[in-house]
Amino acid sequence: MIDYISALPGSLSLPPFPRRLCVLGSTGSIGESTLAVAADHPGQITVTALAGARNVARLAEQAARFRPAYLAVLTEAGASELAGLLPKGYRPEILHGPEAYVALAELSEVQVVLSAIVGAAGLPPTLAAARCGKILALANKESLVLAGHLIRRACRDSGAVVLPVDSEHNALFQSLAGHCGDDVDHLVLTASGGPFRDWPPADLARASAAQALKHPNWSMGAKISIDSATLMNKGLEVIEACQLYGLSQERVKVLVHPQSIVHSLAAYRDGSLLAQMGPADMRIAIAYCLCYPARLPLKIAPLDLAALGQLTFREPRTDDFPCLGLAREAADAGPAHCVALNAANEVAVDWFLKERIGFCDIARAVSWALDRQQGLADPDFMTILELDTATRAAVTDYLTEGT
Ligand code: NAD
Ligand code: MG
Repeated sequence: MIDYISALPGSLSLPPFPRRLCVLGSTGSIGESTLAVAADHPGQITVTALAGARNVARLAEQAARFRPAYLAVLTEAGASELAGLLPKGYRPEILHGPEAYVALAELSEVQVVLSAIVGAAGLPPTLAAARCGKILALANKESLVLAGHLIRRACRDSGAVVLPVDSEHNALFQSLAGHCGDDVDHLVLTASGGPFRDWPPADLARASAAQALKHPNWSMGAKISIDSATLMNKGLEVIEACQLYGLSQERVKVLVHPQSIVHSLAAYRDGSLLAQMGPADMRIAIAYCLCYPARLPLKIAPLDLAALGQLTFREPRTDDFPCLGLAREAADAGPAHCVALNAANEVAVDWFLKERIGFCDIARAVSWALDRQQGLADPDFMTILELDTATRAAVTDYLTEGT
């Protein structure tokens, strides 16, 4: 049984082209890919609002190119700097601070919100977009990990439509479309396995941030690249799939597929496996969400399956990469544990990137945070934010004591 997080209206009730888009996190990897799609398809997409954080110079270049009416950055100083970098005669409204991202997501002019801020910071504007009934093209998987139950409820109340940008969940979305949810036995998420998939266990403790950032197949932001190396990314994606499709974690399996061509599969009760395949390029999933249910012609070299020769699959090494199992543990324990998992991971990844802890310490910190977490059945938004803050503080103390 599949119980999708939001309603999926027929194409006639979706907004006509061009759709007015807000990109949250436009200066990041997903944000840049989104704007590459928008630049090639002005007839389908109008950029109405752009939000970055600290990379003000890049946001100014994007703004000069697309001329959105609204911009947002993290600080007041950033907002003044941005104003000074814009071309003469172009005067958008510039907002700043965490509330600015929520304000952009709620704009009445905006029809599609592409949520691509990294981490828990993406939750408030993502939830705001769901509460306002927007089309929510969702890359920020952390918001589903933290508050999937609230986003699900918001979609039901507002009629918001969620479309998954994450390549695996986008693949599942496509593999489930037009089929009866009752016929689904389980879902299979594929994982590249990350840069350390073939490393001997004894070497993992010495893995450096620079090595972890070199993903074999995808080009991505720093945090998700580290998550891919630890397999926490797949753990977060298991929870993301549970929230999107209304399943328990045992029905979301994971297979390592080093070629990253099969992006995920839906397994039906008659034994059929339906998959979506394609080049490892996020523009495919992004364009599908922006123009759903239409497909755009994209300037991406088609797959040459004969040249590829073979596609392989194997079980993940869960003993050597404990984060996947920790995420499953959190999914079973409930929403408070999912918040603790995510917060501990964000702190530990940040410390690892700054070379303050080793690779294996990430899983150690997450495990510690889960062990001390008490269960909560249905935490509201404020409780989730408080829990997130408290876990970050506790994990920071824990890591400080250990170094
Ligand atoms: P990134 O680090 O490249 O970009 C992050 C963006 O968020 C930047 O624009 C940054 O300015 C902004 N940002 C950072 N902190 C912020 C804050 N506190 N407030 C507001 N904005 C802030 O990250 P990315 O790789 O583009 O990933 C973005 C999200 O998409 C993540 O949740 C990630 O898990 C998800 N995702 C990414 C990929 C990928 O291929 N990169 C694939 C699937 C899902
Ligand atoms: Mg993914």
